[in-house]
Amino acid sequence: MPTVDANPVTRLAEAFQRHGKQLYLVGGSVRDDLLGRPGKDLDLTTDARPEEVKRLAMAAKPSGLYTVGERFGTIGLVFGDLHVEITTFRAEQYPPHSRKPVVSFGTSLADDLSRRDFTINALARDVLSGRLFDPYGGLRDLRDKVVRAVGVPAERFAEDPLRLLRAVRFAVQLGFDIDPETAAGIAETASTLAKISRERVAEEMNRILLSPEPTRGVRLLWELGLLPFVIPEMMEMVQMDQGRYRHKDVFEHTLLVLERVAPDLPLRWAALLHDIAKPRTFSYEGGEVRFWGHEHLGEQIARSITQRLRLDGRTVEAVARLVRMHLRANQFDETWTDGAVRRLVREAGEDLWRLFDLSRADVTSHRPLRVELALARVAALEQRCRELAQQEAIESLHSPLDGNDLMALFGRGPGPWIGRVKDYLFDLVLEGDLDQEDRTRAEELARAFLSAEGL
Ligand code: ATP
Ligand code: MG
Repeated sequence: MPTVDANPVTRLAEAFQRHGKQLYLVGGSVRDDLLGRPGKDLDLTTDARPEEVKRLAMAAKPSGLYTVGERFGTIGLVFGDLHVEITTFRAEQYPPHSRKPVVSFGTSLADDLSRRDFTINALARDVLSGRLFDPYGGLRDLRDKVVRAVGVPAERFAEDPLRLLRAVRFAVQLGFDIDPETAAGIAETASTLAKISRERVAEEMNRILLSPEPTRGVRLLWELGLLPFVIPEMMEMVQMDQGRYRHKDVFEHTLLVLERVAPDLPLRWAALLHDIAKPRTFSYEGGEVRFWGHEHLGEQIARSITQRLRLDGRTVEAVARLVRMHLRANQFDETWTDGAVRRLVREAGEDLWRLFDLSRADVTSHRPLRVELALARVAALEQRCRELAQQEAIESLHSPLDGNDLMALFGRGPGPWIGRVKDYLFDLVLEGDLDQEDRTRAEELARAFLSAEGL
């Protein structure tokens, strides 16, 4: 257990002990350590007040100390690469109808742990003795892989609705199930999620999407009744699956695509939203189901969703672009001109690899031949893009020194000697024996060439 033995934390705990104060590893730090998951930062809790924490912490000689969370009783410490946060025992009360907890400090570890959200997060370990405190059966739930609220679930969720999403997030990050009573509490209080700021909702949603099980995460959001309060637009997809044209299964298809794309934020969001406009563009023409223009309306809807959640501008744009372009690679055929391929490459920009990944994931047909043909199209387009890129790299090759450079360097006027030197240097570049940016070496070589050739 590298964390507990880590020198700085032991030094801290010893300094605290000398002054009769307790220091415990707590929450995610203990949980991740017990699970053998690499944790980055350490969370500690103490009966010392923030002012005293600062004083005592100096004894352990941190390389940095910050007090951003001081109002909430949190002091941050830096020991080289290691970040440690020490929070004074909490005993906050939530005034009714308030989203912001009023923080008051507690005096006991038990009280602090009772304020925590899930049993697996309500564990503490005495730094010096290594003794584990587990008042809510967190260890058992870690073993059984269960996310279970501390206390009465519905009350705990109503107290802080962010926990609704945290429950789902921990389930999919850790590969745990949500205990049935806790799940019932979530379903009961789902609508309180509307009170949570969109940024915090987005933060949890991002983690769900980047987890090993994004599909189960979104399915849980739907089953627990949270989805209407996260992405209401997605409810139309669910309803569509349940309607008359079930065979299209837009929601199920979306979930399938989602788990097939790489764990990359714009890509996962684009997978989630690529068919978001299908319900609104649905038409039935001559016995065929159509979704004319769903990629363009989808781009608009995707943009409004990601902007509402305050995702950063780059992610918003990447998702919008991928949703707009998601059909393009699958439309490719060998008759496309180089110009058409170049236009696609330019439009996709740095998201080209994402577009290919999404296009492959989007092929969810049950018919093997269709799948084979669709994947072959994407592969052929990728190949064309690679060839063009290679060709363009070759076309952009040149001699490191041009005629003007040579005349200036050798103090000579124009003449056939320039062409001879340039050809010589360019040949070396083509052979890979000279870097086209290496002007110094090119000059040496040109000088040697001129004298050897008697020019
Ligand atoms: P990770 O850092 O991987 O997200 P974590 O468990 O460390 O997981 P944090 O959000 O860093 O989660 O919170 C640290 C600890 O604080 C949690 O383990 C939990 O004990 C407590 N906690 C955090 N948020 C809440 C909340 N909304 N309600 C109750 N307790 C919470
Ligand atoms: Mg944490």
